[in-house]
Amino acid sequence: MKIQKIVIVGGTHGNECTGPYLLNLLKDRVAVSNYSTFELSFFLSNPKAYENNVRFVDDDLNRSFLNEDLSNYALDSYEANRAKVINQVLGPKENSKTDLIIDIHSTTANMGVSIILVNDNVFNLQLASYMKFKIPNVFVYYIPPGAYTSNNDHPFLNSLAKYGFALELGPIPNGVVRHDILVQAYDATLACLEFIEKKNKGLDVNFEDEIEVYEHVKTVEFPLDSDGKINAIIHKNIQDMDYKPLEKGALIFEKLDGKAVVNHEDEIFFPVFINEAAYYYKNIAFSLTRKKKIKTVKE
Ligand SMILES: [Zn+2]
Repeated sequence: MKIQKIVIVGGTHGNECTGPYLLNLLKDRVAVSNYSTFELSFFLSNPKAYENNVRFVDDDLNRSFLNEDLSNYALDSYEANRAKVINQVLGPKENSKTDLIIDIHSTTANMGVSIILVNDNVFNLQLASYMKFKIPNVFVYYIPPGAYTSNNDHPFLNSLAKYGFALELGPIPNGVVRHDILVQAYDATLACLEFIEKKNKGLDVNFEDEIEVYEHVKTVEFPLDSDGKINAIIHKNIQDMDYKPLEKGALIFEKLDGKAVVNHEDEIFFPVFINEAAYYYKNIAFSLTRKKKIKTVKE
């Protein structure tokens, strides 16, 4: 198997400015001719949201790629239409002309360099393992099929290609570019391209036989008042503690009246996207994951 066509995507969420800036940086600094085994291109996915410095105009573009939505022409918001265009340009989903997509995102949560994996095929796992070798502070957050829908489909832009993943970088405010975060995004992207070039040439690449992943279990909502409004904040004890074990009895919220809310889960989960700004409108405070190891080689 050879990866022949790679697209690096930025601006899927218009106020996550690291992605679009990275695209310009890569265009400027990375000679596409450095790579002889694949075709590399760059794609700004939500230009209108980026121009307006908002996450999206009508709908979340990164939840707009379910098969049933791509074929539903009654859905005609800006992002629903944009998803159909992107499906034509980069896809089509299930029979994609693009072999591998890296979609660059950023988060207000303390998630370092997170590989958001929606397809745990062996190639993706080996690539993720290689990146853990090359770059510090890399985590793999695996979202199994069906986490967002009742069938095995995924709504993410990344699901247009079989290989690749979203890169989530943080903590960084929306609308901001930070040098340190940008360098991490740049290094992670180049490590990814380096792996593919070596692999395509049949050269040896370093990866472990198994990889530690944080598998999505569920989201946790903020406490709400009787009008359905958020009436608590994330407790300081768990702020920035992404990927750290969350013990039973740990303080997770402080309510307006000063009372703390404790974690009642019996299992020790590992929270991610703690206090992500973009999820307040959905009342989501954080997500819980289960730490596990997956084999990167076929049995
Ligand atoms: Zn994003």
